[in-house]
Amino acid sequence: MSAEIIDGKAFAAGLRARVGEQAARFNAASGRQAGLAVVLVGADAASSVYVKSKGKATVAAGMASFEHRLPADTSQDDLVALVDRLNADAAVDGILVQLPLPSHIDERVIITRIDPDKDVDGFHPVNAGRLATGLHGFVPCTPLGCLMLLKHVRGDMSGLDAVVIGRSNIVGKPMAQLLIAQSCTVTVAHSRTRDLPDVVRRADIVVAAVGRAGFVKPDWIKPGATLIDVGINRTDAGLVGDIDPVCAEVAGAMTPVPGGVGPMTIACLLRNTIVSACRREGVPLDEAAI
Ligand code: NDP
Repeated sequence: MSAEIIDGKAFAAGLRARVGEQAARFNAASGRQAGLAVVLVGADAASSVYVKSKGKATVAAGMASFEHRLPADTSQDDLVALVDRLNADAAVDGILVQLPLPSHIDERVIITRIDPDKDVDGFHPVNAGRLATGLHGFVPCTPLGCLMLLKHVRGDMSGLDAVVIGRSNIVGKPMAQLLIAQSCTVTVAHSRTRDLPDVVRRADIVVAAVGRAGFVKPDWIKPGATLIDVGINRTDAGLVGDIDPVCAEVAGAMTPVPGGVGPMTIACLLRNTIVSACRREGVPLDEAAI
């Protein structure tokens, strides 16, 4: 058996196109563009590339991009003041502060300062709480993208066994919440989990967000399982995921790295931004269809 390779790049292109159509409707209805503010502190090379591609994708979708690049020695107070200005700026529908921040700034202070209703990254505790309790908020972009790919491949996931490897606030925990909401039976594994291969062997759905190249092995996989690889690991052989590609010989469907979850993250950021803009201006939008 050889797994279906889930084309995240193509799915993300479709999502970006739907966001673009909604952005045009938003412009017509509100008389302005939806706006995303992205804040980068310091000159970390990878973060700088992410910020640039987020800005380009925002403009390509017909939305306004406000980029704020601050020096690495920016004080926490100055960053808080910028967040406050963006919270109050009517042209800004979404605010994203690129992580990681320099060590002299407390990320929690910054994340909790962002207006939860502009928190398109979905990292604010209010949005984490909304997700956990089934309320309308913003879902972090990477797990939201994983969910969209899973729905595309599996349709109704009710009753399936899902194992999420990783318990970060950014990926693992929100992913588990999303799968619970789909009526999966969810296990969250982490570095203290005993006999991980056996835990994974039960899973119809595996989401790996570990940060270790080729960590999940083929003999851990239940035949026909759906595998979602969140990992981005830079190796001498280039970018690789957390799941050994040989798992494709056992799985039913699997995301590649690159070209799987990665492209979905930015597309979901654009999606959250247009959703925010429509909510703020009262412009009708079928959120489930986008
Ligand atoms: P974190 O480092 O915050 O979390 C990693 C998780 O993996 C932790 O919960 C950790 O457990 C767990 N873990 C580590 N070692 C083991 C082990 N031996 N067995 C079982 N679990 C283990 O990472 P993130 O969640 O932020 O990211 C995970 C990966 O996803 C990274 O490669 C990152 O680059 C990638 N990523 C990709 C994105 C995309 O757009 N495609 C976006 C965000 C992240 P414990 O809690 O016990 O330490």
